Amino acid sequence: MAFNVHDIRKDFPILQREVNGKPLVYLDNAATSQKPQQVIDSIVNYYSGFNANIHRGVHTLSQEATDAYEVARKTIQKHFNIANSHEVIFTSGTTHSINIVAQGYTALLQQGDEIIVSAMEHHSNIVPWQMLCERTGAILKVIPMNEQGVLVLSEYEKLLSEKTQLVFVNHISNALGTINPISEIIDKAHSVDAAVLIDGAQSCSHIKPDLQKLDVDFYVTSAHKMCGPTGVGMLYGKEEWLKKLPPYQGGGEMIKEVTFEKTTYADLPHKFEAGTPNISGGIAFGAALEYLNNIGFEAIANYEQELLDYATHELLGIDGLTIYGTGPDKTSVISFNLEGIHPYDIGTIVDKLGIAVRTGHHCAQPIMDFYNIPGTVRASFAFYNTMQEVDALVNAVRKAQMMLS
Ligand SMILES: *Cc1c(COP(=O)(O)O)cnc(C)c1O
Repeated sequence: MAFNVHDIRKDFPILQREVNGKPLVYLDNAATSQKPQQVIDSIVNYYSGFNANIHRGVHTLSQEATDAYEVARKTIQKHFNIANSHEVIFTSGTTHSINIVAQGYTALLQQGDEIIVSAMEHHSNIVPWQMLCERTGAILKVIPMNEQGVLVLSEYEKLLSEKTQLVFVNHISNALGTINPISEIIDKAHSVDAAVLIDGAQSCSHIKPDLQKLDVDFYVTSAHKMCGPTGVGMLYGKEEWLKKLPPYQGGGEMIKEVTFEKTTYADLPHKFEAGTPNISGGIAFGAALEYLNNIGFEAIANYEQELLDYATHELLGIDGLTIYGTGPDKTSVISFNLEGIHPYDIGTIVDKLGIAVRTGHHCAQPIMDFYNIPGTVRASFAFYNTMQEVDALVNAVRKAQMMLS
Protein backbone atom coordinates (compact mmCIF):
# COMPACT_ATOMS: atom_id res chain seq x y z
CA MET A 1 0.00 0.00 0.00
CA ALA A 2 1.41 3.40 -1.00
CA PHE A 3 1.59 5.87 1.84
CA ASN A 4 -0.86 8.70 1.20
CA VAL A 5 -1.26 11.05 4.13
CA HIS A 6 -4.39 12.67 2.70
CA ASP A 7 -6.18 9.32 2.50
CA ILE A 8 -4.96 8.40 5.97
CA ARG A 9 -6.31 11.64 7.43
CA LYS A 10 -9.81 10.67 6.27
CA ASP A 11 -9.72 7.80 8.79
CA PHE A 12 -9.44 10.26 11.71
CA PRO A 13 -12.74 12.12 12.21
CA ILE A 14 -11.26 14.54 14.75
CA LEU A 15 -8.79 15.91 12.21
CA GLN A 16 -11.73 17.54 10.39
CA ARG A 17 -12.54 19.85 13.30
CA GLU A 18 -11.59 23.42 13.98
CA VAL A 19 -10.11 25.00 17.09
CA ASN A 20 -10.55 28.73 17.67
CA GLY A 21 -11.86 29.07 14.14
CA LYS A 22 -8.75 27.48 12.61
CA PRO A 23 -8.23 23.94 11.30
CA LEU A 24 -6.93 21.74 14.13
CA VAL A 25 -3.19 21.05 13.90
CA TYR A 26 -2.67 18.25 16.40
CA LEU A 27 0.98 18.04 17.46
CA ASP A 28 0.57 16.49 20.91
CA ASN A 29 0.88 12.89 19.79
CA ALA A 30 3.45 12.03 22.45
CA ALA A 31 0.76 12.70 25.08
CA THR A 32 -1.88 10.70 23.25
CA SER A 33 -2.60 9.86 19.63
CA GLN A 34 -5.85 10.42 17.78
CA LYS A 35 -8.06 7.45 16.93
CA PRO A 36 -9.07 6.22 13.48
CA GLN A 37 -12.68 5.31 12.68
CA GLN A 38 -11.71 1.60 12.59
CA VAL A 39 -10.75 1.73 16.28
CA ILE A 40 -13.81 3.80 17.24
CA ASP A 41 -16.02 1.29 15.37
CA SER A 42 -14.50 -1.65 17.23
CA ILE A 43 -15.63 -0.09 20.53
CA VAL A 44 -19.09 0.74 19.23
CA ASN A 45 -19.50 -2.75 17.76
CA TYR A 46 -18.68 -4.39 21.07
CA TYR A 47 -21.18 -2.32 23.05
CA SER A 48 -23.90 -2.46 20.43
CA GLY A 49 -23.35 -6.06 19.33
CA PHE A 50 -21.98 -8.39 22.01
CA ASN A 51 -21.44 -6.59 25.31
CA ALA A 52 -21.03 -9.21 28.06
CA ASN A 53 -18.50 -10.13 30.71
CA ILE A 54 -15.68 -12.38 29.58
CA HIS A 55 -14.46 -15.81 30.77
CA ARG A 56 -17.56 -16.20 32.93
CA GLY A 57 -20.73 -17.19 31.13
CA VAL A 58 -21.61 -20.09 28.86
CA HIS A 59 -24.07 -17.87 27.04
CA THR A 60 -23.42 -16.76 23.48
CA LEU A 61 -22.69 -13.10 24.15
CA SER A 62 -20.15 -13.96 26.83
CA GLN A 63 -18.42 -16.34 24.46
CA GLU A 64 -18.37 -13.80 21.64
CA ALA A 65 -16.90 -11.17 23.96
CA THR A 66 -14.32 -13.64 25.31
CA ASP A 67 -13.33 -14.65 21.79
CA ALA A 68 -12.89 -11.06 20.65
CA TYR A 69 -10.82 -10.23 23.74
CA GLU A 70 -8.60 -13.28 23.30
CA VAL A 71 -8.21 -12.59 19.57
CA ALA A 72 -6.91 -9.14 20.56
CA ARG A 73 -4.42 -10.77 22.93
CA LYS A 74 -3.20 -12.94 20.03
CA THR A 75 -2.94 -9.89 17.77
CA ILE A 76 -0.73 -8.24 20.39
CA GLN A 77 1.33 -11.43 20.77
CA LYS A 78 1.93 -11.62 17.04
CA HIS A 79 2.66 -7.91 16.66
CA PHE A 80 5.41 -7.96 19.29
CA ASN A 81 6.64 -11.46 18.34
CA ILE A 82 5.95 -12.85 21.81
CA ALA A 83 6.45 -16.60 22.31
CA ASN A 84 3.25 -17.34 24.29
CA SER A 85 -0.06 -15.48 24.46
CA HIS A 86 -0.13 -16.00 28.25
CA GLU A 87 2.91 -13.74 28.47
CA VAL A 88 0.66 -10.87 27.36
CA ILE A 89 -1.04 -9.31 30.39
CA PHE A 90 -3.75 -6.73 29.78
CA THR A 91 -3.33 -3.74 32.09
CA SER A 92 -4.76 -0.24 32.22
CA GLY A 93 -1.57 1.13 30.67
CA THR A 94 2.15 1.65 31.09
CA THR A 95 1.89 3.10 34.58
CA HIS A 96 -0.17 0.14 35.78
CA SER A 97 2.20 -2.33 34.10
CA ILE A 98 5.27 -0.82 35.78
CA ASN A 99 3.55 -0.85 39.14
CA ILE A 100 2.74 -4.56 38.80
CA VAL A 101 6.42 -5.33 38.33
CA ALA A 102 7.68 -2.86 40.95
CA GLN A 103 5.21 -4.16 43.52
CA GLY A 104 6.09 -7.77 42.71
CA TYR A 105 9.80 -7.08 43.11
CA THR A 106 9.21 -6.29 46.78
CA ALA A 107 9.39 -10.03 47.35
CA LEU A 108 12.51 -10.46 45.20
CA LEU A 109 14.85 -7.74 46.51
CA GLN A 110 16.99 -7.43 49.61
CA GLN A 111 18.61 -4.55 51.38
CA GLY A 112 21.66 -3.39 49.41
CA ASP A 113 20.51 -4.81 46.04
CA GLU A 114 20.83 -2.32 43.23
CA ILE A 115 18.40 -1.33 40.51
CA ILE A 116 19.24 1.00 37.61
CA VAL A 117 17.16 3.67 35.90
CA SER A 118 18.14 6.26 33.28
CA ALA A 119 18.31 10.04 33.57
CA MET A 120 15.64 10.49 30.90
CA GLU A 121 12.64 8.67 32.30
CA HIS A 122 8.98 9.53 32.59
CA HIS A 123 7.92 9.88 36.23
CA SER A 124 5.97 6.65 35.94
CA ASN A 125 9.27 4.81 35.38
CA ILE A 126 10.91 6.53 38.37
CA VAL A 127 8.45 6.86 41.24
CA PRO A 128 7.26 3.21 41.51
CA TRP A 129 10.92 2.16 41.80
CA GLN A 130 11.68 4.76 44.46
CA MET A 131 8.74 3.36 46.40
CA LEU A 132 10.18 -0.14 45.89
CA CYS A 133 13.52 1.06 47.31
CA GLU A 134 11.73 2.46 50.35
CA ARG A 135 10.04 -0.87 50.97
CA THR A 136 13.12 -3.03 50.47
CA GLY A 137 16.25 -0.98 51.18
CA ALA A 138 17.42 -1.47 47.59
CA ILE A 139 19.51 1.31 46.01
CA LEU A 140 18.53 3.24 42.88
CA LYS A 141 21.37 4.13 40.48
CA VAL A 142 21.02 6.47 37.51
CA ILE A 143 22.57 6.19 34.02
CA PRO A 144 23.56 9.77 33.12
CA MET A 145 22.92 11.48 29.79
CA ASN A 146 24.94 14.03 27.87
CA GLU A 147 24.03 17.51 26.55
CA GLN A 148 22.53 15.99 23.39
CA GLY A 149 20.11 13.96 25.48
CA VAL A 150 21.87 10.66 24.79
CA LEU A 151 22.61 8.07 27.49
CA VAL A 152 26.28 7.61 28.40
CA LEU A 153 26.73 3.86 28.03
CA SER A 154 30.29 3.82 29.38
CA GLU A 155 28.87 5.11 32.68
CA TYR A 156 26.11 2.50 32.53
CA GLU A 157 28.72 -0.24 32.33
CA LYS A 158 30.36 1.08 35.47
CA LEU A 159 27.07 0.88 37.37
CA LEU A 160 26.52 -2.79 36.56
CA SER A 161 27.69 -5.37 39.08
CA GLU A 162 26.61 -8.60 40.70
CA LYS A 163 24.46 -6.43 42.99
CA THR A 164 22.35 -5.25 40.03
CA GLN A 165 18.96 -6.95 39.99
CA LEU A 166 16.96 -4.93 37.49
CA VAL A 167 17.46 -2.23 34.84
CA PHE A 168 14.53 -0.13 33.56
CA VAL A 169 14.86 2.32 30.72
CA ASN A 170 12.50 3.83 28.21
CA HIS A 171 12.80 2.77 24.60
CA ILE A 172 12.13 6.32 23.42
CA SER A 173 12.13 9.42 25.62
CA ASN A 174 8.80 11.23 25.55
CA ALA A 175 10.44 14.55 26.39
CA LEU A 176 13.41 14.43 23.99
CA GLY A 177 12.53 11.88 21.31
CA THR A 178 15.84 10.05 21.85
CA ILE A 179 15.75 6.40 20.76
CA ASN A 180 17.81 4.48 23.32
CA PRO A 181 20.09 1.58 22.31
CA ILE A 182 17.96 -0.91 24.22
CA SER A 183 19.45 -4.00 22.62
CA GLU A 184 22.87 -3.09 24.00
CA ILE A 185 21.39 -2.08 27.34
CA ILE A 186 19.62 -5.44 27.64
CA ASP A 187 22.68 -7.50 26.67
CA LYS A 188 24.92 -5.69 29.14
CA ALA A 189 22.40 -6.18 31.96
CA HIS A 190 22.13 -9.87 31.14
CA SER A 191 25.91 -10.21 31.36
CA VAL A 192 25.54 -9.60 35.13
CA ASP A 193 22.29 -11.62 35.32
CA ALA A 194 20.10 -8.56 35.87
CA ALA A 195 16.61 -8.46 34.36
CA VAL A 196 15.46 -5.58 32.15
CA LEU A 197 12.15 -3.75 31.86
CA ILE A 198 11.68 -1.49 28.84
CA ASP A 199 9.09 1.28 28.96
CA GLY A 200 7.71 1.25 25.43
CA ALA A 201 4.97 3.85 25.92
CA GLN A 202 6.59 6.25 23.50
CA SER A 203 8.06 3.80 21.01
CA CYS A 204 5.21 1.58 19.88
CA SER A 205 3.59 4.18 17.63
CA HIS A 206 6.87 4.53 15.71
CA ILE A 207 8.63 1.16 15.94
CA LYS A 208 7.56 -2.47 15.92
CA PRO A 209 9.76 -4.12 18.55
CA ASP A 210 10.59 -7.83 18.25
CA LEU A 211 10.54 -8.87 21.90
CA GLN A 212 12.00 -12.34 21.43
CA LYS A 213 14.86 -10.97 19.40
CA LEU A 214 15.50 -8.28 22.01
CA ASP A 215 15.40 -11.00 24.67
CA VAL A 216 13.88 -8.43 27.03
CA ASP A 217 12.41 -9.62 30.33
CA PHE A 218 9.56 -7.11 30.59
CA TYR A 219 8.18 -4.68 28.01
CA VAL A 220 5.31 -2.34 28.82
CA THR A 221 3.18 0.00 26.75
CA SER A 222 -0.12 1.91 26.52
CA ALA A 223 -2.61 1.54 23.67
CA HIS A 224 -3.63 5.20 23.68
CA LYS A 225 -0.32 6.43 22.27
CA MET A 226 -0.65 4.09 19.29
CA CYS A 227 -4.14 4.91 17.99
CA GLY A 228 -5.92 2.79 20.60
CA PRO A 229 -8.16 3.91 23.47
CA THR A 230 -7.12 5.15 26.90
CA GLY A 231 -7.27 2.85 29.91
CA VAL A 232 -5.68 -0.22 28.33
CA GLY A 233 -2.12 -1.38 27.87
CA MET A 234 0.23 -4.31 28.00
CA LEU A 235 2.63 -5.92 30.38
CA TYR A 236 4.81 -8.41 28.55
CA GLY A 237 6.89 -10.60 30.80
CA LYS A 238 8.91 -13.70 30.10
CA GLU A 239 7.01 -16.64 31.54
CA GLU A 240 9.75 -17.41 34.09
CA TRP A 241 9.53 -13.85 35.45
CA LEU A 242 5.74 -13.70 35.52
CA LYS A 243 5.78 -16.96 37.48
CA LYS A 244 8.26 -15.55 39.98
CA LEU A 245 6.32 -12.34 40.61
CA PRO A 246 3.49 -12.53 43.14
CA PRO A 247 0.07 -11.28 42.02
CA TYR A 248 -0.54 -7.55 42.30
CA GLN A 249 -4.23 -7.40 43.13
CA GLY A 250 -6.58 -9.96 44.56
CA GLY A 251 -10.10 -10.47 43.29
CA GLY A 252 -12.21 -12.29 40.75
CA GLU A 253 -10.68 -13.93 37.68
CA MET A 254 -7.17 -14.22 39.21
CA ILE A 255 -7.91 -17.26 41.37
CA LYS A 256 -8.05 -21.01 40.90
CA GLU A 257 -9.80 -21.85 44.14
CA VAL A 258 -10.92 -19.74 47.07
CA THR A 259 -11.65 -20.98 50.56
CA PHE A 260 -11.29 -19.05 53.81
CA GLU A 261 -8.31 -21.23 54.65
CA LYS A 262 -6.36 -20.80 51.45
CA THR A 263 -6.67 -19.36 47.96
CA THR A 264 -4.71 -20.59 44.98
CA TYR A 265 -3.94 -18.29 42.08
CA ALA A 266 -4.94 -18.70 38.49
CA ASP A 267 -2.44 -19.52 35.76
CA LEU A 268 -0.98 -16.84 33.52
CA PRO A 269 -2.20 -14.46 32.25
CA HIS A 270 -5.18 -14.37 34.63
CA LYS A 271 -3.00 -14.25 37.76
CA PHE A 272 -2.39 -10.57 36.95
CA GLU A 273 -5.85 -9.76 35.58
CA ALA A 274 -8.05 -9.43 38.66
CA GLY A 275 -11.57 -8.11 38.15
CA THR A 276 -13.54 -7.25 35.04
CA PRO A 277 -11.08 -5.69 32.60
CA ASN A 278 -11.49 -2.94 30.02
CA ILE A 279 -13.04 -5.35 27.52
CA SER A 280 -13.84 -2.88 24.74
CA GLY A 281 -10.41 -1.33 25.29
CA GLY A 282 -8.61 -4.64 24.83
CA ILE A 283 -10.56 -5.35 21.65
CA ALA A 284 -9.83 -1.85 20.34
CA PHE A 285 -6.12 -2.24 21.21
CA GLY A 286 -6.08 -5.16 18.78
CA ALA A 287 -7.92 -3.07 16.17
CA ALA A 288 -5.35 -0.28 16.56
CA LEU A 289 -2.46 -2.68 15.93
CA GLU A 290 -4.20 -4.01 12.84
CA TYR A 291 -4.72 -0.48 11.61
CA LEU A 292 -1.06 0.45 12.08
CA ASN A 293 0.20 -2.76 10.51
CA ASN A 294 -1.99 -2.15 7.46
CA ILE A 295 -0.21 1.13 6.92
CA GLY A 296 3.13 -0.51 7.78
CA PHE A 297 5.74 0.54 10.30
CA GLU A 298 8.40 1.09 7.70
CA ALA A 299 6.20 3.55 5.82
CA ILE A 300 5.29 5.25 9.10
CA ALA A 301 8.94 5.56 10.19
CA ASN A 302 10.09 6.91 6.81
CA TYR A 303 7.35 9.50 6.64
CA GLU A 304 7.81 10.61 10.26
CA GLN A 305 11.53 11.01 9.61
CA GLU A 306 10.69 13.41 6.75
CA LEU A 307 8.40 15.38 9.07
CA LEU A 308 11.09 15.48 11.76
CA ASP A 309 13.85 16.60 9.38
CA TYR A 310 11.70 19.31 7.83
CA ALA A 311 10.35 20.61 11.16
CA THR A 312 13.82 20.59 12.76
CA HIS A 313 15.27 22.54 9.85
CA GLU A 314 12.46 25.10 9.78
CA LEU A 315 12.35 25.62 13.56
CA LEU A 316 16.13 26.10 13.73
CA GLY A 317 15.65 28.97 11.28
CA ILE A 318 14.01 30.96 14.09
CA ASP A 319 16.40 33.22 16.02
CA GLY A 320 16.92 32.26 19.66
CA LEU A 321 15.29 28.83 19.34
CA THR A 322 16.98 25.91 21.11
CA ILE A 323 16.08 22.25 20.59
CA TYR A 324 16.62 19.79 23.46
CA GLY A 325 17.33 16.26 22.33
CA THR A 326 19.72 16.44 19.40
CA GLY A 327 21.10 12.91 19.33
CA PRO A 328 21.52 11.03 16.07
CA ASP A 329 18.74 8.51 16.78
CA LYS A 330 15.49 10.23 17.48
CA THR A 331 11.86 10.03 16.64
CA SER A 332 9.41 12.76 15.61
CA VAL A 333 9.40 14.69 18.89
CA ILE A 334 10.83 18.22 19.07
CA SER A 335 11.25 19.86 22.46
CA PHE A 336 12.28 23.51 22.24
CA ASN A 337 12.38 26.91 23.87
CA LEU A 338 12.64 30.47 22.66
CA GLU A 339 15.17 32.63 24.43
CA GLY A 340 13.60 34.77 27.14
CA ILE A 341 10.06 33.40 26.69
CA HIS A 342 8.20 30.98 28.96
CA PRO A 343 7.06 27.82 27.14
CA TYR A 344 3.54 28.19 28.55
CA ASP A 345 3.12 31.55 26.82
CA ILE A 346 4.10 30.07 23.47
CA GLY A 347 1.68 27.17 23.97
CA THR A 348 -1.16 29.57 24.73
CA ILE A 349 -0.61 31.69 21.63
CA VAL A 350 -0.21 28.79 19.21
CA ASP A 351 -3.42 27.27 20.61
CA LYS A 352 -5.25 30.44 19.57
CA LEU A 353 -4.08 29.56 16.07
CA GLY A 354 -5.53 26.04 16.30
CA ILE A 355 -2.24 24.27 17.07
CA ALA A 356 -2.04 21.75 19.92
CA VAL A 357 1.43 21.36 21.48
CA ARG A 358 2.39 20.34 24.98
CA THR A 359 4.18 22.71 27.32
CA GLY A 360 5.76 21.98 30.69
CA HIS A 361 8.03 19.31 32.11
CA HIS A 362 6.37 16.38 30.26
CA CYS A 363 6.39 14.24 33.41
CA ALA A 364 10.18 14.20 33.23
CA GLN A 365 11.36 16.80 35.72
CA PRO A 366 14.90 15.38 36.03
CA ILE A 367 15.47 16.18 32.34
CA MET A 368 14.34 19.77 32.87
CA ASP A 369 16.65 20.05 35.89
CA PHE A 370 19.52 18.70 33.78
CA TYR A 371 19.07 21.53 31.26
CA ASN A 372 18.19 23.97 34.03
CA ILE A 373 14.92 25.03 32.37
CA PRO A 374 11.34 25.17 33.72
CA GLY A 375 10.00 23.17 30.79
CA THR A 376 9.82 23.12 27.02
CA VAL A 377 7.36 23.44 24.19
CA ARG A 378 6.98 19.98 22.68
CA ALA A 379 5.71 19.37 19.18
CA SER A 380 5.27 15.65 18.55
CA PHE A 381 4.34 14.42 15.08
CA ALA A 382 2.40 11.37 13.94
CA PHE A 383 2.08 9.78 10.52
CA TYR A 384 -1.18 11.69 9.93
CA ASN A 385 0.50 15.10 10.25
CA THR A 386 1.48 17.01 7.11
CA MET A 387 4.27 19.30 5.92
CA GLN A 388 1.65 22.09 5.77
CA GLU A 389 1.05 21.56 9.47
CA VAL A 390 4.78 21.94 10.11
CA ASP A 391 4.60 25.26 8.27
CA ALA A 392 1.61 26.30 10.39
CA LEU A 393 3.58 25.52 13.56
CA VAL A 394 6.65 27.43 12.43
CA ASN A 395 4.57 30.47 11.45
CA ALA A 396 2.72 30.36 14.75
CA VAL A 397 5.95 30.16 16.76
CA ARG A 398 7.33 33.14 14.83
CA LYS A 399 4.14 35.05 15.56
CA ALA A 400 4.33 34.16 19.27
CA GLN A 401 7.91 35.36 19.36
CA MET A 402 6.92 38.69 17.83
CA MET A 403 4.07 39.17 20.29
CA LEU A 404 6.06 38.17 23.37
CA SER A 405 9.42 39.84 22.88
C1 LIG B 1 3.11 8.28 28.38
C2 LIG B 1 4.29 7.65 28.95
C3 LIG B 1 4.20 6.91 30.13
C4 LIG B 1 2.94 6.78 30.92
O1 LIG B 1 1.94 6.16 30.18
P1 LIG B 1 0.44 6.08 30.76
O2 LIG B 1 -0.35 5.66 29.55
O3 LIG B 1 0.10 7.46 31.22
O4 LIG B 1 0.43 5.09 31.85
C5 LIG B 1 5.35 6.31 30.61
N1 LIG B 1 6.51 6.41 29.94
C6 LIG B 1 6.64 7.11 28.80
C7 LIG B 1 7.96 7.16 28.11
C8 LIG B 1 5.54 7.76 28.26
O5 LIG B 1 5.66 8.44 27.14
